[in-house]
Amino acid sequence: MINFTVGPVQSSDAVRAIGAEQVPYFRTAEFSELMFENERLVKKFAKASDDSRVVFITGSGSAGMETAIMNTLTPADKAIIVNGGSFGHRFVELCELHEIPFTEIKLQPGKALKAEHLKEFEGNGYTTFIVNKHETSTGVHYDMQLISDFCKRNNLFLIVDCISTFLADPFDMATLGADVMITGSQKALACPPGISVMALSPKALTRIEQIKCKCQYLDLKIALKNAERGQTPWTPAVSILRQINVRLKEIDANGGVEAEIARTASLANYFRERIKGLPFEIVSESLSNAVTPLHPTTASAYDIFLKIKDEYGMWICPNGGEMKDTVFRVGHIGALTTADYDKLIDAFKDLKSKGFI
Ligand SMILES: *Cc1c(COP(=O)(O)O)cnc(C)c1O
Repeated sequence: MINFTVGPVQSSDAVRAIGAEQVPYFRTAEFSELMFENERLVKKFAKASDDSRVVFITGSGSAGMETAIMNTLTPADKAIIVNGGSFGHRFVELCELHEIPFTEIKLQPGKALKAEHLKEFEGNGYTTFIVNKHETSTGVHYDMQLISDFCKRNNLFLIVDCISTFLADPFDMATLGADVMITGSQKALACPPGISVMALSPKALTRIEQIKCKCQYLDLKIALKNAERGQTPWTPAVSILRQINVRLKEIDANGGVEAEIARTASLANYFRERIKGLPFEIVSESLSNAVTPLHPTTASAYDIFLKIKDEYGMWICPNGGEMKDTVFRVGHIGALTTADYDKLIDAFKDLKSKGFI
């Protein structure tokens, strides 16, 4: 099978080899060193300030989202949430659950965030801005410069879910003034699922210090204390942290985050060029390098997903809910090559020649 979904994605051979090894004991100086190296490289690739910190939570990306809400916000806050799809909606549900007052900016699928959406919130007593930089469910990549300028003008605490865009599109945490950056191991980090990575600005660290987290397992005060010695409070997904280490070093050795973003962009561009002539429309006003969301004009998107899986041995990414039959997505993250895309294009062309699409 070739995997063109948006997570879990394909891993490099070196990452996979770690998965075959015995899990080592981890309360050691050697494992602490590995964790310090992970922290250093995440900070480097996220362009976080020197006085930022990084924690690794065992759990998928959603654990990082909930950890951020529980540790950095209180009912005294007033948040703006960009809700352009199922991941934006998850932040809405989290703020409801944790009783954080909020207003949502609801965007139709495929629509970009514009300055006009923010106007009514200017100088209105809000404290916090929450956004999924790339709303993976619809494939819309938001304008972080617009958001950053707005947050700076209004002195807002900025939480950014970068789960599918970290390492795929540019992100400069310090320059943007982002306070929490969240990513996950199974997206562009191209490791198995199970670790959520969070980078925290000094402003976030101050909030964490002052707020009582009502969940011991996800309490960032405890995680940060342990991270001072390169450890986690509870047994982490040790193998995945070792795989993340191999992957981060691979990226560093191959030209760093800029080279990795350029590699992903070139795969995305290659695919977007080659689908011209097929009965698909790109349905996002603002694309990430991580994924291409497509509306097939002649067949059900879900039926195409099933055909490609069952008859051609490849996974493209189906959409859920109302978009199940109208949109599928093709990912560009993970260990993929242009030759892989050639096989996918051949499969689409074969479906076309048979009159299926
Ligand atoms: C994948 C993803 C998540 C987290 O999903 P998990 O299944 O919990 O890893 C959150 N936000 C975005 C934008 C994502 O792409």
